[in-house]
Amino acid sequence: MSERYCVLGNPVAHSKSPLIHQAFAAQTGQLLEYTAELAPLDGFEAAWRAFCESGGRGANVTVPFKQEAFALCDTLSERARRAGAVNTLINGQNGRIYGDNTDGIGLLRDLTAHDVALAGKRVLVLGAGGAVRGALAPLLAERPDELLIINRTGAKAEALARDFADVGAVRGGSYDALEGTFDLVINATSASLSGELPPLPEGLFTPGGVAYDMMYGVEPTVFLQWAKTQKAATVDGLGMLVEQAAEAFFLWRNVRPETVPVRALLRETLTR
Ligand code: NDP
Repeated sequence: MSERYCVLGNPVAHSKSPLIHQAFAAQTGQLLEYTAELAPLDGFEAAWRAFCESGGRGANVTVPFKQEAFALCDTLSERARRAGAVNTLINGQNGRIYGDNTDGIGLLRDLTAHDVALAGKRVLVLGAGGAVRGALAPLLAERPDELLIINRTGAKAEALARDFADVGAVRGGSYDALEGTFDLVINATSASLSGELPPLPEGLFTPGGVAYDMMYGVEPTVFLQWAKTQKAATVDGLGMLVEQAAEAFFLWRNVRPETVPVRALLRETLTR
């Protein structure tokens, strides 16, 4: 009998997770059903429990519930604990809930897939929200020479840098504090959602530098369009989405799916 999984969010109808996980299941011969489930804004826990009672084995969690999911867990992975947010839930034995966060490893795998190495490099991260919190430990574990977090609300970037100072060389501040050149600039703000460009100076990239936007869409984001004018190579967040999903699939099924064909499928679906 097929086992049930879902993505819980609000809104959730736009989610690509069902397409991705159904493709993973078909590819690996796993019998499972994966749906998008809308949880009421004030009813995340009830939605998760109802899903478990109907036979649900696990869920992905998306906006705005990653912190609530974190609070719900009986056991957390180290990376979820550090992130303070959970994007993957497992309905364990005796109703115990296990939580993990696969966003950061998803980003790292996607960077690796694009031959972007971090060791000894200067990395700039724009934004200090949940996605950055999830990404910092995996990024710092690669030993960049320096990681600078810049955020509209500078104090949030400074606080994040303090929280992760034990993992590697990291500083935080506001856009006024932005100076120097970077081998990799990761846009983890939600500015792209509204077509806005954070206030970035010319000459931000070292020669051969890479611009990464966690967001993706049919057209390159405003940030990636600007980065092209700065002669940077550009990568969007579609691969991160597929890679974080692959890690969640592995946690649930103990089978690692091939991500290359699913990236291609998703890109094709977007542009169709
Ligand atoms: P949050 O809402 O937690 O954080 C948003 C961040 O963006 C904050 O730091 C905020 O600054 C900043 N910001 C918002 N608007 C602007 C603006 N106009 N100019 C400059 N900074 C701005 O979001 P998340 O961290 O969860 O997500 C960030 C992005 O990453 C989203 O686009 C999301 O879609 C994407 N994402 C992609 C994933 C993938 O798999 N590809 C996975 C997870 C996220 P302030 O603190 O000052 O408000």
